[in-house]
Amino acid sequence: MCSPQFSMNYVSMRMVTRSQSRGPGAGPPGSGEEAATIQRGGEASAEGRKSYHPVKRQRKAQHLNVAYEASDGEKGEGTKPLKAPSWEPQDWQQQLANIRTMRSGKDAPVDQLGAEHCYDPRVPPKVRRYQVLLSLMLSSQTKDQVTAGAMKRLQAWGLTVDSILQTDDITLGRLIYPVGFWRNKVKYIKQTSAILQQHYDGDIPTSVAELVALPGVGPKMAHLAMAVAWGTVSGIAVDTHVHRIANRLGWTKKMTKSPEETRAALEEWLPRDMWREINGLLVGFGQQICLPVRPRCQACLNQALCPAARGL
Ligand code: SF4
Repeated sequence: MCSPQFSMNYVSMRMVTRSQSRGPGAGPPGSGEEAATIQRGGEASAEGRKSYHPVKRQRKAQHLNVAYEASDGEKGEGTKPLKAPSWEPQDWQQQLANIRTMRSGKDAPVDQLGAEHCYDPRVPPKVRRYQVLLSLMLSSQTKDQVTAGAMKRLQAWGLTVDSILQTDDITLGRLIYPVGFWRNKVKYIKQTSAILQQHYDGDIPTSVAELVALPGVGPKMAHLAMAVAWGTVSGIAVDTHVHRIANRLGWTKKMTKSPEETRAALEEWLPRDMWREINGLLVGFGQQICLPVRPRCQACLNQALCPAARGL
């Protein structure tokens, strides 16, 4: 099920910084399992522990070292001045063409179950956007199939801001279980929904800066939400697949340590008209061939061009 995109006007902000943070995890409902740690590069968030103070948050963030530029993309695709990058990886065009060939079947989990496919196209646009954001919040540390199952249960229950706010935490936990860190996500979903109701008239924010200020929303989710919900390319959405593959292929000038570092490194040279495509392309490639452990290098068209092929 592929739903059409929907877009609206938006506001832009110049530059924000955001902490990489950690939050307690959880086991199955009623298990009493000890809190764990979400570590998802730039995706983890502990903002849920705090009340919503955007101004305070921004001031504090000045001291933190995870930064992204939010303004260019939010003005619309193709508005960044065209200038040749000072560096670009050798062979990247052939490597990318090979990945496109390997991905031509469009048969990876992300192709059927990604955020573009998890909202109900029959509901009003505002509710669709909320469902996109919720599916992205559920998807961290979670397989696409599990996220899609949770979204189906939530939609059958009633997936609107009002409905979720009226749902008690235990019921919400049962609806989303077994998504990763479901207990944290119950908390973040409730907090984020309350903020959306109070500050955004039940809609989702229109900028990356405002999206990452929501509890449980990280940069990758924000960029994907901008693309899927608002039809705006604000930056490259980098998750663990994109982070890993970019480093294996030598698509960063030096090895990067986090998805946010990778995003910044890729945006330095990758042509802007590929920013939206690259996430789905590499996520599916990472799900099927360039696996986190024991990548299928023998089946990879990039084997001869990949600096990491022999070392794995
Ligand atoms: S050769 Fe191996 S490590 Fe390199 S891109 Fe292909 S699957 Fe990934």
